[in-house]
Amino acid sequence: MRILVTNDDGIAARGLWALVRELRRIAEVVVVAPDRDQSGIGTAVTLHHPVRVSPVPAGITTVKSYSVEGTPADTVILALKTLLKDGVDMVFSGINEGSNLGNDVLISGTVSAALQGYFYGLPSVAISVAAIKRVRFDVAAKFGALIAQQVAASNMPQKFLLNINLPNLPLDKIAGIEITRLGERSYMDNIKAGHDGKRKYYWIVRGKPDWKEVEGTDISALGKKKISITPLHSDLSSDIHLESLGKAFSSLFQGLRTGSPRTHTKSK
Ligand code: MN
Repeated sequence: MRILVTNDDGIAARGLWALVRELRRIAEVVVVAPDRDQSGIGTAVTLHHPVRVSPVPAGITTVKSYSVEGTPADTVILALKTLLKDGVDMVFSGINEGSNLGNDVLISGTVSAALQGYFYGLPSVAISVAAIKRVRFDVAAKFGALIAQQVAASNMPQKFLLNINLPNLPLDKIAGIEITRLGERSYMDNIKAGHDGKRKYYWIVRGKPDWKEVEGTDISALGKKKISITPLHSDLSSDIHLESLGKAFSSLFQGLRTGSPRTHTKSK
């Protein structure tokens, strides 16, 4: 078994190497990761400038590794299309410092790297630990290796995407595993303005997250000190609206052919 390991925290991140150490006990591991922190870059693919790749010298690590001047999605595309032409059996992304729960998955570089593996038809797994200070990777790394073994040994569907989040706790404090749906979590973004000497600038600062703790979701599982495993797919279509919009918008094409929208009149 050959496993591609990437992340969005960058090739120097502790979480990536903690995962590599466990995975290489059970498989051949190749690392292809961004050269710097790309957290929050989402699914971005670099299309407007060339992407450079530097092999990590053998003296630094015995694991075949490449540092990429690009996004997490770039690393997986390059790995699968050119660097690892002999093929890969699974893609792992992480271990991320900080949880990726609920709506986070839509901007998460960690999840987006795994998403690329999924697009290429491979079993793909994103792993995050819910802490940004004193993060412990031991349980998450071991859990990643167990998942890889389980996938290799069983008849699970080959193409899938798992988003795994662990509480930042030692094993004896973790309450179990829950298979979950995505919860709803958004951020109260704050804007900090400043002046760089020439122009005004703005920082978008992620404020306090706001969430609903709904039973069965990833957010709720973490709240209960459990490991959350959310199976994802890439169909974002809204089932609720498919039917209701079908009714509400049924006459729009007729309207398009027969008239123009009413002109907006300013109210006094
Ligand atoms: Mn990250």
